[in-house]
Amino acid sequence: MTTCPQCQQLINSQAIDCPYCKTTLKAFGHPGMPLSQATQTEFLCDRCLYHEDDSCTYDKRPFAKTCMLYQDKTQPILNEDIIKLTPSNPLTKLKRWSYRHRRMLLIVGLIGLSLAIALSN
Ligand SMILES: [Zn+2]
Repeated sequence: MTTCPQCQQLINSQAIDCPYCKTTLKAFGHPGMPLSQATQTEFLCDRCLYHEDDSCTYDKRPFAKTCMLYQDKTQPILNEDIIKLTPSNPLTKLKRWSYRHRRMLLIVGLIGLSLAIALSN
């Protein structure tokens, strides 16, 4: 459960819009896309991290009332914290490395495969 940013009623955290005031809470009607809502008196951009560091490309900036990518500059970014907290064992490091270099690995794999075919004939 969560509270509606507009009417402060207790609502389901997966609700696409508020059943009381009809405020849209999720983008594209999808529960996995939370939509941040500004209050009546201010814009989201006023306290958004991406507006402050000038990396925002949203066309409604700096007067956005709703935004999918809004990041409160007073709050820590959760994703980065999760990455920092994950234990860095060698296997995880290898997995990340191979994910980052997957294109190169694919090419090397293909060359190896063609060599193997060529040499077996
Ligand atoms: Zn509401």
